[in-house]
Amino acid sequence: MKRTYNFNAGPAAIPLAVLEKAQSELVDFNGTGMSVMELSHRSKSYEEVHNRASALLKELMGIPEEYEVLFLQGGASLQFAMIPMNFLKSETDAHFIMSGVWSEKAQSEASKIGNTNILASSKDDRYTYIPETFEDPAEGSYIHLTSNNTIYGTQWQDFPITKLPLIADMSSDIMSREFDVSRFSLIYAGAQKNLGPSGVTVVIVKKDMLAETNEQIPAILKYSTHSKQNSLYNTPPTFAIYMLSLVLEWIQEQGGLAAIEALNNKKASLLYDCIDQSGGFYSGHAEKTSRSAMNVTFTLKNEELTKAFIKESIESGFSGLGGHRSIGGCRASIYNAVPIEACQALADFMANFQKKHA
Ligand SMILES: *Cc1c(COP(=O)(O)O)cnc(C)c1O
Repeated sequence: MKRTYNFNAGPAAIPLAVLEKAQSELVDFNGTGMSVMELSHRSKSYEEVHNRASALLKELMGIPEEYEVLFLQGGASLQFAMIPMNFLKSETDAHFIMSGVWSEKAQSEASKIGNTNILASSKDDRYTYIPETFEDPAEGSYIHLTSNNTIYGTQWQDFPITKLPLIADMSSDIMSREFDVSRFSLIYAGAQKNLGPSGVTVVIVKKDMLAETNEQIPAILKYSTHSKQNSLYNTPPTFAIYMLSLVLEWIQEQGGLAAIEALNNKKASLLYDCIDQSGGFYSGHAEKTSRSAMNVTFTLKNEELTKAFIKESIESGFSGLGGHRSIGGCRASIYNAVPIEACQALADFMANFQKKHA
């Protein structure tokens, strides 16, 4: 069997050990004589999987008692709408820190529900950095930020302390590093970058926020509905949650978030060093102080060279190195499941490509 060096942005690499475990119990899960996919979501066997995923997430991220973990559907994109529907009070603002296209989408959806205000933005500089300093507002419903900008390859280094509830889209860097969950009132992430397959969205929400939800919206869109029913209000994406539980077990076996973070930094350094030592042959999109350890974005001198780079990379067994269609260039997404060997192989490939084409 030959596994590709997978640098896809999302859906993305899943640890081989997790895929193999899922394969080994695919047709008979835990002696049930059924696949996890065939179990009732009300059965004891499934409920154990569901609760284990939630407990492991809490343990590994150090989530305090006053938070709940929810498993929802609809991706991060549904959260862009659900958050303002639940928490944006009329006559107040939802504040946004704009660091990329995903922040824009979140703000755009909120603006359909109520008032929004842009606290800070790096749009004028092509989103090459995170606008980490801003005036902390005292009035408003909440502040929203995007912790890692999947498309531009920038990442918050230090999260702010804010007066208003702080909400973060962590779709592309959740569980990639340690951080203080208690700074946030709500964290959300589609699973398909760092947590497993698409289909489940993790929401971590402070219990005191749940009491604030707007009562005038449909039950399925209310966080309190899902919280009261342990994310079993309707049929959850059972197989995706099972895969998430296996990914979480894998993270635990790797030594938890501290070990994962150290390895992620090493992986990112291999590629950034290659860019920095290329004498301008490769040029990073992100400013150094805002560089992402998850998505490494870079350009080559011209379109022709970029095309040749992508073409040769595919021939050499690398997948997913084309940049997002909105900014072009190249991007290597090096989420938790991408092994350091793949990053070393890419760094070697980049150095060789430069020798050949310089
Ligand atoms: C991928 C991504 C999204 C979109 O997620 P969906 O699950 O497809 O809705 C939103 N925000 C960020 C930061 C992302 O990386």
